[in-house]
Amino acid sequence: MNQISVLDESRGDVVISTDSILPQFKVYTLKDIDRIVQLQALPESVLFEMKVVSSILPFRVNQYVIENLIDWSNVPDDPLYQLTFPQKDMLPPHVYQQMAQLMQQNAPRAEIQSLASALRRELNPQPSGQLEMNVPVASDGKRLNGLQHKYRETVLFFPTQGQTCHTYCTFCFRWAQFVGDEELRMASTDTSELHKYLLEQPGVTDLLVTGGDPMVMKTRHLAALLKPLTEPAFDHIRTIRIGTKALTFWPQRFVSDSDSAELLELLSQLVKAGKHVAVMAHFNHWREIDSPMAGRAIALLRQTGVEIRSQGPVLAHINDSPDVWAKSWAMQVKAGVIPYYMFVERDTGARQYFEIPLARAVTIYREAVKQLSGLGRTARGPVMSASPGKVEVQGVTEINGEKVFVLRFLQSRNPDWSYRPFFAQYCEKATWLDQLKPAFGEQEFFFEREYNAMQSRR
Ligand SMILES: *Cc1c(COP(=O)(O)O)cnc(C)c1O
Ligand code: SF4
Repeated sequence: MNQISVLDESRGDVVISTDSILPQFKVYTLKDIDRIVQLQALPESVLFEMKVVSSILPFRVNQYVIENLIDWSNVPDDPLYQLTFPQKDMLPPHVYQQMAQLMQQNAPRAEIQSLASALRRELNPQPSGQLEMNVPVASDGKRLNGLQHKYRETVLFFPTQGQTCHTYCTFCFRWAQFVGDEELRMASTDTSELHKYLLEQPGVTDLLVTGGDPMVMKTRHLAALLKPLTEPAFDHIRTIRIGTKALTFWPQRFVSDSDSAELLELLSQLVKAGKHVAVMAHFNHWREIDSPMAGRAIALLRQTGVEIRSQGPVLAHINDSPDVWAKSWAMQVKAGVIPYYMFVERDTGARQYFEIPLARAVTIYREAVKQLSGLGRTARGPVMSASPGKVEVQGVTEINGEKVFVLRFLQSRNPDWSYRPFFAQYCEKATWLDQLKPAFGEQEFFFEREYNAMQSRR
């Protein structure tokens, strides 16, 4: 029997058998819904709803999440169930109805797929001008489709082999990447094109590898991408960030996969070569972190010298409570993870199901940090990743008798917009920047004229 030692919150180090920790990755998608044993206890109508929704939004869940994270005695309210299993109300009613009708008639596959494609287009598949405004052009005039270069210092790379995840989150703003419609996808560029582009850009200091989840990639693919950056020509790339949810959705990636040891060795080599390597861990609920396997993965990663920073959106049905955030941040700090961003759910896909008013989000943030020491207060937020930049809602106050939101850019298309406070009329219901109006009777926000000019120039 294979055994590993696992850090357990209450008991210290305990030895567990790897036979009980699902060494094999096993995943279920739309066509396997009827084979998920735990779902068989649910009414037939719920399974049908699930199939309707997942014909439009992506669905993928692995056995570890099903067995270790979801509390099946608390379905459908369980936050981890809401995070991974499609629910009827995740689609606008008219979108749901159209697809449900077609599927009730047992329509042919091709017809279902073509309706699905059409309906996806109603769900704002590429929010914030991602496809049009952020794709850089190489010196030879070629559009680099697997790259985004929106903020001066940082280039995002979407590697081909990383365009899926161990499990899909139901709220995911990258959902269009996963459903197979070519035009909705940020097609990837090969690694050599990324390296060439970085060589041409001495002003870029940060590379952010994202997806999907790059940790679904084999270590040898990650090595081909990252190892060359240790050469002197790439000295300007000081920071390498890797966005992932694997720490909680498949922690085995760092512990017991066939190439886990090589992965830890690769990260350790990058650190030794002088790079700041940050694993940008995506967490949505403390219950994900509260697992021996995740604890083990975090501990092993930290031994390589990488920093782990965490981010995730505030979401109705999943984590719209100060206590959930306070507990999550407290557990993270204890494990050595640095809270980084609290996001606002973006204007795409199932957003109407998950969104909460900005006013509520800012209260959740404040009520959560109030419970923690300074080390638990390092996340900035709530932040809207909007087309002009990342806008943080700092708070609500009253100025000259007018109730306002205090806002600022944390990142912006024009770097000079950042960290200047600006004000919007308070609105109890607003959920996104485009619903906010400038305060004090002003006609537009300070950046709007310049931003509009940028848009018309492209
Ligand atoms: C958030 C983000 C970054 C990184 O910004 P930081 O402030 O350095 O965390 C880079 N590019 C895009 C498109 C982003 O949304
Ligand atoms: S892990 Fe990230 S990219 Fe993957 S589905 Fe979840 S939110 Fe989307």
